[in-house]
Amino acid sequence: MGPMKKIAWTPFLYIAGYHLFLAVALPLYFIGHTPSAGLIWTMIGLVFLSGTAITAGYHRCYSHNCYKVHPVVDAILLFFGTLATQGSALRWANDHRLHHSYVDTDKDPYSVKKGLLHAHILWMFFRSEPIDPKVISDLTRRKMLNFQHKYYGLCMVIANASVFLAVGWIFNDYLGAFLFAWWVRTFLLHHTTWCINSLAHFWGTKNYSQEHSAVDNYLISLLTYGEGYHNYHHTFAYDYRNGIRWYHFDPTKWLIWILYKLGLATDLKKVNNYRIARHLLLQHKDELIRKLKESEAIQKVQEVAERLSQKLAKMQSLLDPKQVRDLKKSLKEDWRQWRLILKSLQKDPLLRA
Ligand SMILES: [Zn+2]
Ligand SMILES: [Zn+2]
Repeated sequence: MGPMKKIAWTPFLYIAGYHLFLAVALPLYFIGHTPSAGLIWTMIGLVFLSGTAITAGYHRCYSHNCYKVHPVVDAILLFFGTLATQGSALRWANDHRLHHSYVDTDKDPYSVKKGLLHAHILWMFFRSEPIDPKVISDLTRRKMLNFQHKYYGLCMVIANASVFLAVGWIFNDYLGAFLFAWWVRTFLLHHTTWCINSLAHFWGTKNYSQEHSAVDNYLISLLTYGEGYHNYHHTFAYDYRNGIRWYHFDPTKWLIWILYKLGLATDLKKVNNYRIARHLLLQHKDELIRKLKESEAIQKVQEVAERLSQKLAKMQSLLDPKQVRDLKKSLKEDWRQWRLILKSLQKDPLLRA
C-alpha cells in the first residue's frame, strides 16, 4: 500500500453518523411506535426509485453513455440520483470510469483487492484524487450535471427533506417519515448499491472474462436493481443491458427499454450477439489451450476456433439476408464440432488436472 491517505471527514462523519443515529433511534422508536404498512411500502418504493436512478442514470447513462435521454427524464433521474446521496453525478462518473479503466489496481478507487470492506464502504472514508476533467469531458458540458455538482450539498438536503416532508404529510407521521423515508431508506439504498462494488466483485461466476474480479450473480441482481451481471458488464460496459437474456432480472434494463418505447430514450447501445459468441469462443479456446499444454488436441482446437471466429466476425456486419442464412447454416456445423471438442476434452484426464 502507498502512503497513508488522509481521512475524508464529510463522508466519514455523514455515513458513520447516520449508522450510529439509526442504531440508537430505531430501538427507541420501536418502544412506543409501529410504522404503518403504507409508510414501509413507500420507503421500499423510494429505495427502488433512487436505486434505479443510480443504475439507469448515474451508471448506465452518465458513466457509460449506453443511451441518451429526454431532458425531462434526465431531470427526474438526476433528482432521484441526488436523493440517493452518493455524491454528484460528475464525481460518481469520474470514479466509476476509473474503476473500469484500472479495475483491481491501485488506481481503481474501490478495488476489491484491498479487501471486501474497502470496496464496500471504507474507500469513501479516505480522500480521493480530484476529478480529472479529461475523464469526464463529455459530461462537463451538461448544464444540469454541472449545477448539481456545484450545489451538491444543498440539492441533496433539499431533495431528502422535501421527500421526507411529503411522506410525513401523506401519512400524517413526520417522525416515522423522518426515520423511514429518509434515514432507513438511505441505509438500505447505500448498502445495496455498495454491494455492486463489493459482492459483485467477489461472489459469483466469471462467465465472460477471467481478466477482472467482476462476477455474475443472480442473487446480487435482486439486491442491486439488475447490476448483478457484473462480469458481463465489465466485459461489455457500453451495453445498456447488464443481464442480456430476457429472463435475467435487470429492472434497470426494462426501465430503459420502456423509456425507449415511449420515445423518451434513444440510441440504446447493445452488443451484437455474434460478437458476444465470438468473445466467448476465444475465451474458451484460450482456456482449453492453457490447460492442454502440449498435445495434438491443441491443433484441432485452434483450427475449429479460428474457423468459427472468422465466421462470427463476418456475421456481425452481414446485411444481405441470403448471405446471413448461408453463413448461419455453415456456422451450425462448426458450432456442433466445437461443442464436441469441449465435451470430449472435459473427459480428458489432462484437463481434470
Ligand atoms: Zn465493478
Ligand atoms: Zn460500470
